[in-house]
Amino acid sequence: MTSVKTREPVDVLVMGSGASGAAVTWSLSAGGFKVVCLEQGPWVPPSSYPTNSADWQYLQRTTWDYSPNVRKLPADYPVNDEHSQIKVVMYNAIGGSTIHWTAHVPRFHPSDFRVKSLDGVAEDWPISYFDLEPYYDLNDEMMGCSGINGDPANPPRSPRQMPPLPLGPDGERMARAFDSLGWHWWPSDSHVNSTEYRGRQACNYCGPIGLNCDRGARASSDITYLPDAIKLGADVRPNSTVYEITTGPDGRATGANYYNSKGEQEFQPANSVVVAGNGIGTPRMLLHSRSRIHPNGLANSSGMVGKNLMFHVYAGATGLFNDLGSPTYRGPLANIIMSQEFYETDPSRDFKRGYTFQVGRGQGPAPTAIGNVPWGKNHHVEFDQRFGKTMGLGAIGDDLPEEINRVELDTKQTDRHGIPAPKITYRVSENSKRLLAHGVKSARKVLEAAGAHRIFENPFSTNTGWHLMGTARMGDDPGRSVVDRFGQSHDADNLFIVDGSVFVTGAAVNPTPTIQALALRTADYIRHERMDLKS
Ligand SMILES: Cc1cc2nc3c(=O)[nH]c(=O)nc-3n(C[C@H](O)[C@H](O)[C@H](O)COP(=O)(O)OP(=O)(O)OC[C@H]3O[C@@H](n4cnc5c(N)ncnc54)[C@H](O)[C@@H]3O)c2cc1C
Repeated sequence: MTSVKTREPVDVLVMGSGASGAAVTWSLSAGGFKVVCLEQGPWVPPSSYPTNSADWQYLQRTTWDYSPNVRKLPADYPVNDEHSQIKVVMYNAIGGSTIHWTAHVPRFHPSDFRVKSLDGVAEDWPISYFDLEPYYDLNDEMMGCSGINGDPANPPRSPRQMPPLPLGPDGERMARAFDSLGWHWWPSDSHVNSTEYRGRQACNYCGPIGLNCDRGARASSDITYLPDAIKLGADVRPNSTVYEITTGPDGRATGANYYNSKGEQEFQPANSVVVAGNGIGTPRMLLHSRSRIHPNGLANSSGMVGKNLMFHVYAGATGLFNDLGSPTYRGPLANIIMSQEFYETDPSRDFKRGYTFQVGRGQGPAPTAIGNVPWGKNHHVEFDQRFGKTMGLGAIGDDLPEEINRVELDTKQTDRHGIPAPKITYRVSENSKRLLAHGVKSARKVLEAAGAHRIFENPFSTNTGWHLMGTARMGDDPGRSVVDRFGQSHDADNLFIVDGSVFVTGAAVNPTPTIQALALRTADYIRHERMDLKS
């Protein structure tokens, strides 16, 4: 690409405005850095959310589908996941995938950072839970967390900003079932408001939380971090696709070439570059940013860029109930209670590490009819038995890293600007298979204890590649990792990575609080230790 116009230099260029990019943009702007954030997608106005339309369920499967390969919006890049047992989902807009997320926000356990020492698998992280703790707390304050302190499975944490979301009669039923088995459960921490918080309204429990919320009750980074960052002077540019991160003769980052909202080519010079494109978009851009000095892609002297892709593996079971007391299409989908009874390694089991149970509700009428109910003459009877009457238990399993699970550049498909699509290779490990089989059996026990009259087992979910991790991992050894413990590239001291790519292991919980805590920690490091990057 030939640069046409060169913009005014800035201190920091951030690529991506999702969970991590927004957090870093806010923190560095608050620290007085001149920040520009380039985001390939648009602002998504609340008036456009599908929940404002009678056709919301149709939109859920078309322009608001979770998969970029179905949506095919201008900002989306195709993902070749033909050779992946789990299909990739994400959103490309200001706010990134938090536009679509369900905002269930458990934290890693301290043991997740030490799996090699404790269980002899994968690698230890170069940092501990306690290095991240203050940043988890800060992130909760920025995003707003409903929950209750005191979970015996986790270290104590700061007072939650809001009380937990009500369990509802369905959640209470499941909680009693866990109690009857003597198994752990706790109300989920959630970035969904149970009361008004910082000008955003409380949840009205309407249901389809993943289609966004025009009350602002469900936090996303476009309505939390970014408005504050802009007030602090950040320049957030939508519809701006980074084509390549540029480097100088010394191998350090110099900025980025990108396509602006008019499709014109521009060069944005910067003293430093922070990459926040998610666990797929980031390795894609690093691999694409090849140069004489970085012939295998930027920050890739270790050869680890793109490798060790983790998604989390999912299985579980769904129970049918006649007497739950409220229809289960109402209420936030996945934020009721969680159980970490089987989280830690137990030598009596045939797998290492473990899983979290997330208790989930049912879907709207159309997804129920086309997704869960068999076609044929019994369709209406079956629909009647299921709609609003299902409770699901999803086991989200620790998906240990393997180098063969990876992101590469596709040789055929490109996005609208000619940037190669990512090609994903991923297969489920034997450890994960055993872990999931245990999860399905345990889910059945809970649903039986809860009084479900029919139970459907789900041995493996395929369309659940929403946690994108591990493809530019952190570590102390430059030969085995891409960034150091502060997210700084081993190869270029002014290049930082702050999204889920830097995860060493994936743990058995949703990743976003950990992603955002890491991003805030990197920003703090830059603010305090890298004043040389400030003009
Ligand atoms: C349906 C769904 C449900 C989810 N539910 C949960 C949940 O309950 N709890 C949880 O913890 N997590 C959940 N997640 C995951 C969560 O959304 C992600 O972990 C989080 O958003 C990742 O943050 P990120 O900053 O790494 O990436 P993203 O939020 O994906 O943001 C990356 C941004 O970078 C931009 N970008 C990429 N490449 C370029 C480029 N070349 N130029 C310019 N911009 C670029 C993209 O457009 C995108 O906006 C869910 C995700 C989905 C899709």
